[in-house]
This record gives sequence, C-alpha cells and structure tokens, in this order.
Amino acid sequence: MKTPVLYIVIPCYNEEEVLPVTSGLFLEKIKSLIAAGKVAPESRVMFVNDGSKDRTWEIIQELAASDEHFEGVSLSRNRGHQNALLGGLMTARDRADITISIDCDGQDDINAMDAMVDEYLAGCDVVYGVRSKRETDTWFKRTTAEGFYKVMNALGAETVYNHADYRLLSRRALEGLAQFKEVNLFLRGLVPLVGYRSSSVYYERAERMAGESHYPLKKMLAFAFDGITSLSVKPIRLITGLGFFISLASFIGIIWVLLTKLFGVTVSGWASMACAIFFMGGVQLLCLGVIGEYIGKIYNETKARPRFIISETTFDKEDKGE
Ligand code: UDP
Ligand code: MG
Repeated sequence: MKTPVLYIVIPCYNEEEVLPVTSGLFLEKIKSLIAAGKVAPESRVMFVNDGSKDRTWEIIQELAASDEHFEGVSLSRNRGHQNALLGGLMTARDRADITISIDCDGQDDINAMDAMVDEYLAGCDVVYGVRSKRETDTWFKRTTAEGFYKVMNALGAETVYNHADYRLLSRRALEGLAQFKEVNLFLRGLVPLVGYRSSSVYYERAERMAGESHYPLKKMLAFAFDGITSLSVKPIRLITGLGFFISLASFIGIIWVLLTKLFGVTVSGWASMACAIFFMGGVQLLCLGVIGEYIGKIYNETKARPRFIISETTFDKEDKGE
C-alpha cells in the first residue's frame, strides 16, 4: 500500500485565543507522522473557518503563509460545527487518502492520531476516537454528556459511546458520507451508517487550552434533540404508544362512567374532569410539538439548501458549495 496522504480537518469558530496555541501542536504532529513514514509528505493541516467574527481567518491565513503544511478554507458565514466539518471533509476528499477530524481547542489528544493511522494501515476505513475518561470535565458536563449518549441510543439514534467528532475516515468512507444528502447533519450518527470496517482508539480528554466552549447546556440539549429526530422516528412511535395507552384507558373510563350513570350513583366529578382536561391538553401539545419537529425537518430537507458555501481558500479562489 502506498503511503497515504493525511488531511487533519479542524473547524474553527471564534478561536483566536486557542489557535496560536494549538496550531503548532498540529504542525508538529503532522511533521512527526511524515518523518515516521506513516503518511505522505503532501499531508496537510486544514483549518475551516466557520464564519468567525474575530481574527480567526486572519490567523489561519498567516499560518498558511508561514508553512506549506497549513491550509485554510473559509465558509461564507457561520453554519455550525457539523456543517463546517463537512465542508472541510468534502474539500479534503479530493486531495487526501485519509482525513482525521478534530476540534481546534486541544481537548482531544493529538497523540491518538498515530494509533488511528495504524488502524487504517491495518485495514480499517473508519477509526473512532473514544474518550476513555472524562476526569477533566466538570461533574455536570460529564454527567450530562454521558446521559446524552444513553438517551440517544435509547431513542434509536445509534452513536458510538463517548465518541465525538474526533475520527479518521478513509477516502472510501468519505465518498460514502458524501452520498448522504441530508441537510439536518449529525455526523456522529451518519458515520456508523456509512459502514465499512471500523475500530476505536482510546484517549483521555483534556481541558480546553484557551477560549470557551460553544456548547453550553442549552445548545447541547438542542443538539441532542436534533440528533435524535434526524436519525430516528422512535419518538413518534412512543407517541403512538402513548396515544394507544390513553385511548385504552379512556375506553375503560367511558365504560365506568356509563355504568355509574346507569346505576344512578353519579357524583359531581369536577376534580377528575379538570385533571383529565389539563392532562390531555398537555399530552396533546407535547405530541404535536414532537410531530411538528419532524415536519420541520421534512421542510428543511425538501428545500435542500446547500449545507455550506466556501467563500475563500488559501490554495485557490474558486467558489464551492455542497
Ligand atoms: N465550532 C464551529 N462552529 C460553531 C461552533 C463551534 O466550527 O458554530 C467548532 C469550534 O471552533 C471547535 C469545535 O467546533 O473547534 C467544538 O466546539 P467547542 O470546543 O466549543 O465544543 P465542546 O468541545 O465544548 O463540546
Ligand atoms: Mg471543545
């Protein structure tokens, strides 16, 4: 097998504080992989600027000018982590044999890349970076994040436990991923669907080297809900089950009401009436909400808007979008 060309793809949004710290580490890593003969000398570190409002893109351009191993791609505006990552991967697809996606904040251990490349050389098309411990995360972040994986799996969105978006993909796996045209992107759920032989590499998650997380609890919950509704119709099934259960209970209730009426022991049932009305109102609104969420997804999918638009790159000036 020929030595593969590796592209490390890194989405960045308002990361002017952390980029100067971590870019050097990425560069060292790619150089050491090249020196070890594991990857080809044409391998690159590719930053994707996700419409940052600070100096992130200027920093990326400076980096690209300073060392040929750095490249940059800029999206036309902020589209979110998943879209930015896809934009980078689809740009790297034509040039690379393998890509490794990683966040730019240094939380994911770059030393796991060696093992990832080894797994690729051993025949895997997908290698997941899995967090073995989360000691540096706060108790709250750890519990909510681990709960996130459990709830997702229970609701039918299969994901790899404790794996975020740190993974190696072969060109073949990228071609597979490119065939998933959905606008509601949830890469963690899509990659397992692409298939091919996969394995995992374990590492310890560190603290962000600088700057702040873009995923506070509110965004994390929204992301989880999006993930579940993009990957599975189980919530709608649960609603159907609930509806069935309530209908059955009401049926029994109606028989009971008729019987008491017939035998003439009716009482003024204000309390039970009021409870039933409130309960049904609540349940119905909740169910409508969940169904509405799916309709919203269908709405977005039918419009099939581009998932990202590249406005600028450090290597050519062509506009690209997908
Ligand atoms: N990110 C992005 N676009 C966004 C938000 C975040 O490209 O709209 C990038 C960010 O620069 C980082 C990665 O996605 O490289 C993960 O973000 P963060 O570290 O804030 O999330 P956390 O690790 O706390 O879940
Ligand atoms: Mg982070």
